[in-house]
This record gives sequence, C-alpha cells and structure tokens, in this order.
Amino acid sequence: MHEVAANPWVALAYLIAGVCFILALRGLSSPATSQRGNRLGMIGMGIAVVTTLVTHEIASLPEILIAIAIGGGIGFVIARKIAMTAMPQLVAAFHSLVGLAAVLVGVAAFLNPDAFGIATLMVPLIGDPVAVIHTASRVELSLGVAIGAITFSGSVIAFLKLNGTMGGKPILLPARHLLNLVIGAAILLLIVYFTQGQSAWAFWAIAVLAFLIGFLLIVPIGGADMPVVVSMLNSYSGWAAAAMGFTLGNTAMIITGALVGSSGAILSYIMCRAMNRSFISVIAGGFGAVAGPSGDGAAIDRPWKRGSAEDAAFLMSQAEQVIIVPGYGMAVAQAQHILREMADKLKDEGVRVKYAIHPVAGRMPGHMNVLLAEANVPYDEVFELEDINSEFAQTDVAFVIGANDVTNPAAKTDKTSPIYGMPVLDVEKAGTVLFIKRSMGGVGYAGVDNELFYRDNTMMLLADAKKMVEEIVKALG
Ligand code: NDP
Repeated sequence: MHEVAANPWVALAYLIAGVCFILALRGLSSPATSQRGNRLGMIGMGIAVVTTLVTHEIASLPEILIAIAIGGGIGFVIARKIAMTAMPQLVAAFHSLVGLAAVLVGVAAFLNPDAFGIATLMVPLIGDPVAVIHTASRVELSLGVAIGAITFSGSVIAFLKLNGTMGGKPILLPARHLLNLVIGAAILLLIVYFTQGQSAWAFWAIAVLAFLIGFLLIVPIGGADMPVVVSMLNSYSGWAAAAMGFTLGNTAMIITGALVGSSGAILSYIMCRAMNRSFISVIAGGFGAVAGPSGDGAAIDRPWKRGSAEDAAFLMSQAEQVIIVPGYGMAVAQAQHILREMADKLKDEGVRVKYAIHPVAGRMPGHMNVLLAEANVPYDEVFELEDINSEFAQTDVAFVIGANDVTNPAAKTDKTSPIYGMPVLDVEKAGTVLFIKRSMGGVGYAGVDNELFYRDNTMMLLADAKKMVEEIVKALG
C-alpha cells in the first residue's frame, strides 16, 4: 500500500483533493459562501475516493464495492430517518465509528504488518520468520490505536449524554484527576516500550487503557462544557484518521485527518474562549468542575405571569426593536420558518428585528445559524452574543424561543450552578421578556431552573414553539 503514494499521479490527485478540502473549510467560514464550500468538499472527497478505488491494493475491488454498498446503505437509511434534533448525538456516534475504525486498522496492521508494507521479514536461524515492524510504524500504530480508542469510548459517552440516556450533569468520580494522570502516563510509557520491543502485551494494554481513559475523561463533563467536548471529539477523530492514513500509507487520509483534527481543535479553543472555560481544564476531564445543585428541575415556587399569543403580538407590534433569541426548543419544534414569517410581519409594521445567537445555543456548534439560514433569515439580522448583548438594555422586547440555559443569570451569580462562568444573553435587560416553552417544569440541558421566568418583566408563553408562533402570526393579521 505504501508504494501507492509513490505514484506521482496518485500523489497529485490526493494533493488536489487536499486543496479542495482546504478551500471547502474556507468556504464554510461564512454562511454566504458555505454552499460553495460544501460543493468543493464533495468534489475533493469524490477525487480521493475514486483515486483510492483505482489504486486499491489491500482488498479486491468487489470487496471494496460490497463494503461501500453496506456502509452507504446503512448511512442512507440513517440519514433519511434521523430527526434534525437528533443530529448532535448522530455526529457523536459517527465520531465513535471513526475511532473504532482507527483501532481496527491498527489491530489489523499489528497482526499482519507484512500486508500493510510496514515490516521487514527477519528469518532467524531457528524457528519461523518474524515480521519486524519499522520503528516509525510502531509509533504511528500505537498512537493511532490510543487516539482511536479514546475517540471511541469518549464519543460513546458523549452520544449517551446528548441522547439523554445518561444525564447531562457532570459525574465527578473521586480522585479522578490522579487516576487520569496515572493512566495517561502509563499509556505514554507503554507507547515507548512498544516502540522499542514490539511487545504484543504492551500493544493490547495501550488499547485497553486508552478505551478506559476516553470514558473517564468524558464522564465528568456536563452542562455548559458539552459543546466543547463535541468539537474536541471531532478533533480527536481527525487525528485518529490521520494516524490511520500513516498506517495505510494514504496521503489523502493524512491530509483530511490533519485538517479535521486541527480545525476541530481551533473550534474547541474558540468555544472555550466564548464560554469562559479553560481549554486545558476541559480536555483534562472537567478539571476544576464543581458538583452543582441537585438540578432536578423543580420549579421555583414563585408567582409568574402567563401570556397569550395575542398579548405577545400586541407587545411586539408596538415595539421599536425586538431581539429574537432562539434555542434548542426552536430546533425541537422546527419553528424557524414560521419565526421568519413572524419577523417579516413585524418588519412590515416598522419594527426592527434582530436575532441574538449564543455560541452554544441548541445542541451543536452553529445549530441556530444553520436553522435560520434554512429559513432564509437575512445574515445581516443575525448577531453573535458579544455584538448584541449590550443592545438588550435599549430593546423593547426580547423574544426567547425555546432557549433557557443561554439566558440564565445563574451563570453570572451562582457559583454552584453547572453553567457558572458561561457568558449569557442579558435578555432580562429588555423592557419585556417573552419566553416560549412548553411547561414551567421543563428545564434546559444543564437541568437547572431559570429565575427569569418569575421576574416582573417576564411573560411566559407556554406552548410548543411552532404552534405559539403560528398563533402570534395569526394575531398579527
Ligand atoms: P436549553 O436546553 O437550555 O433549553 C431548551 C428549552 O426549550 C427548554 O426550556 C425547553 O423547555 C424548551 N423546549 C423544548 N422543546 C420545545 C418545544 N417543542 N417548544 C417550545 N419549547 C421547547 O437550550 P439552550 O439553547 O438555551 O441551551 C443549550 C444548552 O445545551 C446549553 O446548556 C449548552 O451547554 C448545551 N449543549 C450545547 C451544545 C452545542 O454545541 N450547542 C452541545 C451539547 C450541549 P420545555 O421542556 O418546558 O418546553
């Protein structure tokens, strides 16, 4: 397989694919150019896949085509069936498969290194010939298996947390930092040992310990840190793919893996900064996390005001400026299209409408931006937290649709809250805050109640977001 990369045409095709991927990333950096970026990414992937098929060496073409048909078939069915709201856990599940694939490639290469062209056959005076794996390949193999195993078990836990199968709150094991430190050091020592002697037990021990540490690193992370974890696992899956690329001698995989790995790492860093979190503390398994309150979502026993669609329509039509704050509930209700219709009606009545996007609103990075773009909301009406937060104080109505944690002032005041320290949208500074959610008992991802629901300038609009906005549109006439 390693000879493939030496073929100049193959190298050129992979280089072109790599350039397409880089331009795709550039395109995806702005909503206006994202479609072009996506197309370039698809072209790059097409070139990479066709080149690999043409120059296949490890398996026969029919075997590869059967594998593509099975994998593609499963992917097609999942993509058709999956609800938009289940995308984050699907992404986590796919990351886990990348990790598992890296482990399996590593195991196959370790068991049959000759087939991968990473070993020299030594014939001893007595006994059978031994395949001695090249030193560089031993490093690649052990690192690939370690990163792959961490990605696999970490992503499985992320999947369970995002799917709601496991609570979103951090689970803090006693002495976890010491445990992680010891296991991390053991993995590093085993990699060195394996590199020197190609010891089989060291190889398997690396895999087992890496599975374990992936699990231990993600279990204590919850609440506001989950978004960073999702992008971090995305980054890990890239590095796992790059390691696989080295083992398989496939340049396209190395380039793609490195691009995914580094862009995921940059995204994690940006999100950490936006969330006021330390990057190191999150990747070290929630270092510094504190056990929060019970977070059982029990509603605060205080009076609150309930409004109707007509009340909301009246308040907003009288306003000079309305800021819409979308959150996960808008995605659940798929209310983005009717929301844009509502905004259009308000604009027709001379109301200035803006959208405020919190960096972790929804359940995946960019979740709200994608939904609003799908509903053709003009990009110049959409603002990031730091660009719009100061405007709430001069705004008549903050219209919060299915957002909870991203507006919760406990993040500023309550040190025991799982979201403490996260910057939030200061919706309470607006003249009136309208909150759409289905019930007073329902809580957001972090599992904590929001004291804003009980404030004097808040009006609760209790209903499914889509239904409520439909009624508001009707009331606006
Ligand atoms: P939240 O999860 O805090 O709140 C969602 C709100 O929507 C709830 O109040 C819920 O209340 C309401 N809701 C749910 N379904 C509907 C519906 N059909 N109609 C109307 N309302 C509905 O969402 P936010 O966007 O404010 O915050 C995101 C949270 O997710 C943060 O804690 C973030 O850390 C976390 N997270 C984000 C990720 C990301 O990458 N963006 C990834 C992982 C986690 P009710 O049930 O009463 O209707």
